[in-house]
Amino acid sequence: MKIADGIEMLELKMNMMGRESIIYPTFMWDDNTSVLVDAGLPISLPDIKSAMEDACVPFEKLDKIIITHQDIDHIGGIKNILDELCDVEVLAHEEEKPYIQGEKKFVRLNSSFMDRINYLPEEEQEKVLDMFKNAPVEVNRTLTDSEWLACCGGIVIIHTPGHTPGHICLYHKNSKTMIAGDAMNVFEGQLIGTNVQLLSEEDAKTALNSLKKFEEYDIENVITYHGGLFNNSPNHRIKEFNNKEA
Ligand SMILES: [Zn+2]
Repeated sequence: MKIADGIEMLELKMNMMGRESIIYPTFMWDDNTSVLVDAGLPISLPDIKSAMEDACVPFEKLDKIIITHQDIDHIGGIKNILDELCDVEVLAHEEEKPYIQGEKKFVRLNSSFMDRINYLPEEEQEKVLDMFKNAPVEVNRTLTDSEWLACCGGIVIIHTPGHTPGHICLYHKNSKTMIAGDAMNVFEGQLIGTNVQLLSEEDAKTALNSLKKFEEYDIENVITYHGGLFNNSPNHRIKEFNNKEA
């Protein structure tokens, strides 16, 4: 779906642990650079290619993959892209780098996750664990809070810890779009914060705190990775849920 000139919200089908859903990576480009934000699962490659073609940008022109955070549905597709395009640069927040490179254990691979996958048939369990095992890739460049990337009309990196330690959101200046990753979500048509059910009490608190950072930006569109687009006065809605939590 076209958000504005040079920014497209992709819609990819995903099947994770027997549950079908849609995920929404973002694609941004200008004459010199094209950037994919989050890369889906290993099976996402054909869909990413065709979405880029629909936006009239050949897949071979992809320069950068910016990863909002380490979760498998965001990084699982990187390796397949790099197998075809070895020059693509992978960028992520400095705190997320050791997880994405496989030097630290993914935060989601905790005991409650293992309990959940125990219910799956053995073959499915293996598939899920293999996906985690195969996911690590090298991060070529790290990003910091408030960093400005001059490409694609200007992108601001916003460190929004909570969901994971190095979670980032990206603000695309030209289109006033906040690419929220998993820091925000859309539920029954309404913009909400991150899903705190997955998090410890402390991480949930950190995640709620991170939401305050969005108030500094003039936002017309929010792209959430699991809920898609929200463009119904996001600034107003963000203030509303921040005041409620305060
Ligand atoms: Zn996530």
